[in-house]
Amino acid sequence: MAAMSDPAAVEVAAPTWDRFPRRSVALRHLDAGSCNGCESELSLLSSPDYDLTRYGFSFTPSPKHADILVVTGVITEAMVPVIRQVFLQMAAPKRVLALGACAADGGIFVGAPGVLGSLAGIVPVTVTVAGCPPSPGDILRGLLAVTDHRDPRAFGEAME
Ligand code: SF4
Repeated sequence: MAAMSDPAAVEVAAPTWDRFPRRSVALRHLDAGSCNGCESELSLLSSPDYDLTRYGFSFTPSPKHADILVVTGVITEAMVPVIRQVFLQMAAPKRVLALGACAADGGIFVGAPGVLGSLAGIVPVTVTVAGCPPSPGDILRGLLAVTDHRDPRAFGEAME
């Protein structure tokens, strides 16, 4: 069952004029150390209920083909070089989405050994989707918030 939607879950760091300019947007998912809760919700975006392809989103295994880096899981010291390397391999313009409480600020792992906390301290984060885990609808709203699609509120029924 999908997590509940939270109207306050999506926080955009970039101003609206800085929205991603394309309508076909490739996502590179990077699991920095997740419990798989966020992945479970993220995978639901490919289900018929959400069908992220109708908004122009698709997943790619290659950073070089990616437009948005989606990071899940707790950010540890060991993963910092990996995250930076993946980000640097992406071509501009590019965006970063911090998905879930762990990537946003460390979540339940704050203060644990080797945990750095926020992804924003490693790479420039454009949008944060809070929640543990966030709902698929909130994840989709976060993606739409940084792209040049129509107002995401227009898709409200499909994302609840
Ligand atoms: S935010 Fe919650 S669901 Fe997501 S990886 Fe962290 S503990 Fe798991």
